[in-house]
This record gives sequence, structure tokens and C-alpha cells, in this order.
Amino acid sequence: MAQATKMGADTATLEARRRRSTGHACSKCGGEIAQGDLLMVRVMAMEPSGRPRNRKVPYHRKCYGL
Ligand SMILES: [Zn+2]
Repeated sequence: MAQATKMGADTATLEARRRRSTGHACSKCGGEIAQGDLLMVRVMAMEPSGRPRNRKVPYHRKCYGL
């Protein structure tokens, strides 16, 4: 397909990229998260000073969904 050629990545390459680790650890199970499995959830956390702060928490897609 012309479009796939233009993007320069075949299925195997995309799959390898999906499996590569992101370096994030899941907040629920503590396991390492692969590229294709990463879900960043934005949560609002209150600091001790009383100011709200946005924080991003990494989850596996399957861990957050359950
Ligand atoms: Zn997990």
C-alpha cells in the first residue's frame, strides 16, 4: 500500500516499538510498561501547602480499565 510505504514502518517495526519499555512503572501492579501499553492518567493532587497540582500517573491499559 502506498501509504504504508510513505510512513516507512512495516508491521514488525511497529510491533517492536510497541513492546519497548517506556521506563514507567505501573501504579497498580508495579510492573514495567511497554510503549503500546502505556496509559498516562492525569490526577489532581493537593499539596501540603493547600495548592492543587496536576500529576500524571502511569498505568497499564488493562490495569486502569479493571
Ligand atoms: Zn499494571
